[in-house]
Amino acid sequence: MSLAERDQCTIWHPYTQMKTAALPIPIVRGDGALLLAEDGKTYVDAVASWWVNLHGHAHPYIAQKVAEQLQTLEHVIFAGFTHPAAVTFAERLLQILPQGQSRIFYSDNGSTAVEVALKMAIQYWNNLGSPKKKIIAFRDSYHGDTFGAMAVSARSAFTAPFWSYLFEVAFIDVPVAGREEESINQLRSIAEANNDIAAFIYEPLVLGTAGMVIYSPEVLDELLGICQQHDILTIADEVMTGFGRTGRTFASDYLQRQPDMVCLSKGLTGGTMALGVTSASEKVYNAFLHDDKSKTLFHGHSYTANPVACAAGLASMDLLMQEETQQNIRRIGQRHQQFAEKMQALTHVKEVRQTGTILAVEFEDGGTSYFSDLRDTLYSYGLDQGVLLRPLGNIIYIIPPYCITDAQLEQVYQTIRGMQQVVSGETHYPRPDQTVLHD
Ligand SMILES: *Cc1c(COP(=O)(O)O)cnc(C)c1O
Repeated sequence: MSLAERDQCTIWHPYTQMKTAALPIPIVRGDGALLLAEDGKTYVDAVASWWVNLHGHAHPYIAQKVAEQLQTLEHVIFAGFTHPAAVTFAERLLQILPQGQSRIFYSDNGSTAVEVALKMAIQYWNNLGSPKKKIIAFRDSYHGDTFGAMAVSARSAFTAPFWSYLFEVAFIDVPVAGREEESINQLRSIAEANNDIAAFIYEPLVLGTAGMVIYSPEVLDELLGICQQHDILTIADEVMTGFGRTGRTFASDYLQRQPDMVCLSKGLTGGTMALGVTSASEKVYNAFLHDDKSKTLFHGHSYTANPVACAAGLASMDLLMQEETQQNIRRIGQRHQQFAEKMQALTHVKEVRQTGTILAVEFEDGGTSYFSDLRDTLYSYGLDQGVLLRPLGNIIYIIPPYCITDAQLEQVYQTIRGMQQVVSGETHYPRPDQTVLHD
């Protein structure tokens, strides 16, 4: 049996309809922005393997640091104990995080980073003796797949079976260009009509899963201003936008106003292993300091602050701060801009959105449903061209490792250009017989 067949006998994949899914593609090696398949085919990883990879696959520097850590200390309980990697990584994160963040709480993925922030926010008000229940979020947001994270995310087909279990959230529209006033007014009227709002959680500047929907720092500053006026805690979910994705280290770096809490994961370890961080301001942290033990934040995971994950995070941060990486981030941004201008002019292209290293092309045709045929067609077209691009419905996006070469980037652009020809009917590309993997 081939590896893919053995997989099919044993494994239940994420976001995948196992009945109709095509055989998964076995990847046996990674090298820079390339994934090498068992059959010898290579794929340019234009989505950084679910938005996590920053510096390329199997990076030798991260591998060395991880190996050293593994041979020194692989794990230790993080209550009552600590270790050098966790402390050093926390110190270095606080140096680069948005102003006002003063404490690092470790968990092990993006969803848990969000859960922790929500629990901090709700318990903050409890601890102060004025319980507040409501959370505000963007209507199209995505904050993860655990229950709290689902609750503050869009009510979509993905979460429909669980809607009745999800706590109530006040949703406001995303303030995309031209719709800023609606969003501001919605937030203002919710804030004025309710005095039991614990927090506002948001994806700063880019809503990833919504389809790389982009909005301006100016309007986010206004929203944060309203929250601050009304004593609403603010939670920046930088799980996707963190570590250079938008051109600056954090999307929050484009803002005047800073959040009370920040959620990090994905690029946190350069895409090497699972780690989550929720940082908090001194104000939030102080509300948990008390002689009464019931004010403690009773939350933790077995692998909290895993030393190997922290070592990967430290190594990734070393690489991120190198001038070469910063140059690459700027280079990708400039190339994206040039490509965006060309794509914008083509038929069947509804909109091209770009910020920093993230670029999205929204096609007009095919319906906007995630489950549309167009999505499967474009996905398999990309793979045929040796490029891993996972469309969100009729939206195709690039979020590459920063080490992607100009030639690889050109291959990705050519593939998206080819997709436009498929959408417009200039090129005939057959629909795949089988439904491919879903995101
Ligand atoms: C991916 C993502 C999450 C969830 O992270 P996981 O590690 O997949 O649980 C949360 N928020 C945002 C903005 C994300 O993009």
